[in-house]
Amino acid sequence: MIEIIDKSKCSGCKACYNICPVNCIDMVVDEEGFWYPKVDEDKCIQCGLCEKVCPELNIYEDDKHFVTPHTFAAWNKNDKIRRVSSSGGIFTIIAEWIISNEGVVFGAGYDENFNVVHKEIITENDLEELRGSKYVQSDIGESYRRAKLHLKNNRLVLFTGNPCQIAGLYNYLDKDYPNLYTSDLVCHGVPSPKVFDKYKEYLEDKYGSKIKTISFRDKKHGWKTFSLSTKFSNGKEYSKNLKEDPFLLGFLRNYYLRPSCYACLYSKIPRSADITLGDYWGVESRYPELDNNMGVSLLLVNSEKGIFLLESIKEGLEIYESDLEHAIKHNPCIIKPVNKPKDRDKFFEDFNNKEFTNVIKKYMSPPSFFEKQIIFAKRGINFARKKAKNILSRDDKS
Ligand SMILES: Cc1cc2nc3c(=O)[nH]c(=O)nc-3n(C[C@H](O)[C@H](O)[C@H](O)COP(=O)(O)OP(=O)(O)OC[C@H]3O[C@@H](n4cnc5c(N)ncnc54)[C@H](O)[C@@H]3O)c2cc1C
Repeated sequence: MIEIIDKSKCSGCKACYNICPVNCIDMVVDEEGFWYPKVDEDKCIQCGLCEKVCPELNIYEDDKHFVTPHTFAAWNKNDKIRRVSSSGGIFTIIAEWIISNEGVVFGAGYDENFNVVHKEIITENDLEELRGSKYVQSDIGESYRRAKLHLKNNRLVLFTGNPCQIAGLYNYLDKDYPNLYTSDLVCHGVPSPKVFDKYKEYLEDKYGSKIKTISFRDKKHGWKTFSLSTKFSNGKEYSKNLKEDPFLLGFLRNYYLRPSCYACLYSKIPRSADITLGDYWGVESRYPELDNNMGVSLLLVNSEKGIFLLESIKEGLEIYESDLEHAIKHNPCIIKPVNKPKDRDKFFEDFNNKEFTNVIKKYMSPPSFFEKQIIFAKRGINFARKKAKNILSRDDKS
């Protein structure tokens, strides 16, 4: 029977909840806003399946996945799709191929209250619901059960999500389905739905109206300085970029990621899915001529199925070979989790007890002029240290 003692050992993938044959597992939300399984011991039949499928207790590994993925810089030739996608719009082209073969696509969308939830999509028109990154943990709901049903009915399935969600799916299925394709993301970590709820409330109060649309990756000021933008029912609009928007600033400072994200078991190579998508940060140092700030995806092809997917969609792609080392240099989350800030616990203590505007001021605001000077000075010192180290090691060798 699954019991969470150390929260950093539960990614909230809900594989246990999906597998339970007597539905005795509830997912209970804690004070940080993350859900954890709670077993009703009176109903539990001690079958042990919940522990068996847990991707934290039983690490998912597929020996068929390549030790070194094929690495590409790529984007969708359709400019309209590329503009509204987070990086290069590769997700959409893969999903379109699946749908054109009468398949089902699973991925993260919103419910009517802008909670991030996994959905299944079967038409091209509805794909926009899954398009674009939502920087909040997505609730898998009963998606694993639904995916299994489609797989058993011999329908093509594309399951997309964070690496831990893909690992949860494979452990849940416990069998290789030739009609299953998976795509994971390079993942910085998933923010708390409770913090996002508070942020939505804060914006709605400020603008005196309900949110109508949200984009975490609005490219109006370019791909690299993406913005969080919302439209409200009263016609007003909000938009601030990653250096100004409180939610993005707190996310990128790692304050409200799920505890398991700081100890992620799946920020690694080999990856969990057939293909991995991310932003190709640093593309300008490899291919300066390709960088027009419209968005380039990092595409890692991790398996034979991944190769087949790529072959199926490549007509619609601009694609250039690259190498994993270069990608990792500019995107370390491919192989290692982010650091937990020293004051993360204090963040949640303040978040749960203080006015949200004070929390924003303390943790989620752009650095002041004085703080910026300190950051620049620290960077200067680090740079000088590195240079000195290089010179010394060169002298040692000669
Ligand atoms: C929480 C999170 C953290 C990320 N961190 C990084 C990072 O550190 N470095 C990096 O290079 N890339 C990161 N990405 C991935 C990146 O933002 C793009 O999603 C990726 O490049 C795919 O872009 P696209 O243009 O092909 O497709 P898009 O249309 O932009 O992406 C849609 C895909 O993202 C999935 N998705 C969206 N939100 C979620 C969610 N909350 N949970 C699970 N799946 C989701 C959808 O299911 C769909 O598969 C992150 C994404 C998320 C959601």
